[in-house]
Amino acid sequence: MPLKRVPQRTCIACRRVRAKWELVRIVCTPRGTVEIDPRGKESGRGAYLCKNQSCWEIGLRKDRKNRLARALKIELSPEQRAELLHYSKIFPANERAFE
Ligand SMILES: [Zn+2]
Repeated sequence: MPLKRVPQRTCIACRRVRAKWELVRIVCTPRGTVEIDPRGKESGRGAYLCKNQSCWEIGLRKDRKNRLARALKIELSPEQRAELLHYSKIFPANERAFE
């Protein structure tokens, strides 16, 4: 089996490299909207976050690193940040919940 071919991506918050399916893709679409892309199929610039709230909080934080906005090369409105943060509530609070 071609195990080496499992596509991998890096979480923009914790920088862990994981199998693509273990991460959630956020995409800046050609229409200029920012969307959650659960299937990873939308065209546009994407960024990946782990399925836990702490990575989303770090990724969405508007600090010096401003990770998500930089990864997508856009400005994120407060509404967009709030919407994405709201979405992340479906995930466990942190990594330990998985282990
Ligand atoms: Zn992460």
